[in-house]
Amino acid sequence: MKRRSLLLTLASLPFAAGSTTVFGASRSGADIEAMHKRWRDLLAPGFEPPAAADTLQLDESQWRARLSAEQFHVLREEGTERPFTSALNGEKRAGIFACAGCELPLFSSAMKYDSGTGWPSFFTTIPGAVQTKRDFAIVWPRTEYHCARCGGHQGHVFEDGPAPTGERWCNNGVALTFLAAG
Ligand SMILES: [Zn+2]
Repeated sequence: MKRRSLLLTLASLPFAAGSTTVFGASRSGADIEAMHKRWRDLLAPGFEPPAAADTLQLDESQWRARLSAEQFHVLREEGTERPFTSALNGEKRAGIFACAGCELPLFSSAMKYDSGTGWPSFFTTIPGAVQTKRDFAIVWPRTEYHCARCGGHQGHVFEDGPAPTGERWCNNGVALTFLAAG
C-alpha cells in the first residue's frame, strides 16, 4: 500500500512529464522515462518506503536524543564528514538510501555511482525527496540540499556528474540509512 502510494506520487509529479531543466541542461523524455523505469524496478520488490507528504519538525533536544553526535552535526548544523569515512561510500547492494533523520527515501542504488571523492554520490534523487538552497560557506556559491521532510542537511550538488543528468549529488554517508532491497 505504501509502496503503491509512493509510485503513484512519483508518476504524478510534474518532473515525470516531457522534459525538465536542471542547471540549464534539458533532459530528453526518453532519458527521464528510462530513469523512472529503473526507479520503479528497484522500488518495487518487497520495499515499502514511508510516505513523503508530512514534514517532521523537532526541537534541538529532540533531535539530539534521536541522532548520534556526528549525525546531529551533519544533519542539523550542516557539517561535513571527513571523506572515505562512511561505509556507505562503498555500498553496492540494491536498495534505498533514506534520510538518517526521518527515513524518507532520498536515493535508490540505481542512482549511485563511484565519484572517487570519498562521499556517497548519486546522479539524481528520488523526485521531490530533497530541496536545495544556495550556500556561500566556501566563498563561491554552492548548492546545498536537504531532506524535504525533516530539513536535515544531506550534502551539495555539483554539475560534474555522469550521464544522463551530469549531476553529482555529493552526500554525507552519516546522514543516510541504507535499506537493502528484498
Ligand atoms: Zn529527513
